[in-house]
Amino acid sequence: MIDVSQALEITLQQTPSLATERVPLLQAHGRVLAEAVTSDLDMPPFDRSAMDGYAVKSADVQNAPVELKVTGFVPAGTFPEFTLQRGEAAKIMTGAPLPRGADSVQMVEKTESAGDHTVRILAAVEPGKHISRRGEILQEGQTVLQAGTYLSPAAIGLLATVGREEVSVYRRPSVAILVTGDELVDVGEKPTGGQIRNSNAYALYHQVRQTGCEARLLGVARDNVADLTGKIAAGLQEDVLLVSGGVSMGDLDLVEDVFAGQGVDVFFDKVAIKPGKPTVFGRRGATLVFGLPGNPVSASTVFEVFVRPALRKLMGFASVQPLLLEAELRGTLKSKTRRTYYAPARAYVQDGRLFAEALPSKGSADVLAFARSNAYAIVPSEVDELRSG
Ligand code: AMP
Ligand code: MG
Repeated sequence: MIDVSQALEITLQQTPSLATERVPLLQAHGRVLAEAVTSDLDMPPFDRSAMDGYAVKSADVQNAPVELKVTGFVPAGTFPEFTLQRGEAAKIMTGAPLPRGADSVQMVEKTESAGDHTVRILAAVEPGKHISRRGEILQEGQTVLQAGTYLSPAAIGLLATVGREEVSVYRRPSVAILVTGDELVDVGEKPTGGQIRNSNAYALYHQVRQTGCEARLLGVARDNVADLTGKIAAGLQEDVLLVSGGVSMGDLDLVEDVFAGQGVDVFFDKVAIKPGKPTVFGRRGATLVFGLPGNPVSASTVFEVFVRPALRKLMGFASVQPLLLEAELRGTLKSKTRRTYYAPARAYVQDGRLFAEALPSKGSADVLAFARSNAYAIVPSEVDELRSG
């Protein structure tokens, strides 16, 4: 049995990042950038007004209120060809280029009309006031985004700003999900005599989608070698295969045998994690293969601890690990297993401090406690008990 950090290290070592492809901006959301992007221009591209108002010479309005002759009008999208002279102002709109001769803008709220072609400036402005300088946000040739960056709406807006119609991103991994068990029935059915509803397919499907990957449900394999072999062979065509159930010590836990029969190299099949001890990780060719324990909380937890970081690495993310925060424990956590315990917890902020409330749980089948959690409280393997506080 290996510990969680060793298992994670092996998993990530065996995980390449996928090939890249070019996508247009409207399809780029949620992808990970595979190239560094530089700007093709200065931003702003010219000295421009940050306000609707009047472009002036600040020296002219030092003793405001003063009246100035309005000799020009500069809406956004035009370029002023005139030069402002002493005693003159030009009406200017937000984002419009500053005319030569002007060194500041007074906002329209601090002006009033003083008859035809005359404006009264009501307050003085310092030189440079309400002006954005050419290149003050970014400069031509500057690297604005690094490879490995998640493409958020804001990042895509930046790509548009610097003139990138398409970008190179990592291919989205395709993930096959196979659940196993003779006892499983689908959600629409009422389980009878020894049956149980298949919930893992649904939870895992959304964990995969939430990570930003394509999910392909392979249905349910029954606990026999023939059915498992056919369905596992189909799953091995994808970038990643997740198999739930059939990896513990029971007589009908046949998944590892079938992995071996399909040429999967297994790197570990037991991890010192609670829940989730019988976790299997292997690879066949470029396909990563995970055997997850069938209990719902175990399957989803092993996904979070091992599968999600691997998927993020495939996707090219610069950072693949979950966010680890220090919080004050509410409630007591006991674990005498010598395994790292991922306890379902509810994290919340109170008076500016982060707390983690341990949710009473009946263990790896307790889907109720798990669904109420929004975090894990992690109890190190060598710790028997964490008390409140
Ligand atoms: P296994 O790992 O196959 O021994 O399954 C362990 C436990 O998880 C058993 O109680 C199964 O009934 C349950 N289980 C297995 N697969 C699923 C599934 N897809 N959805 C819900 N529970 C499952
Ligand atoms: Mg089973």
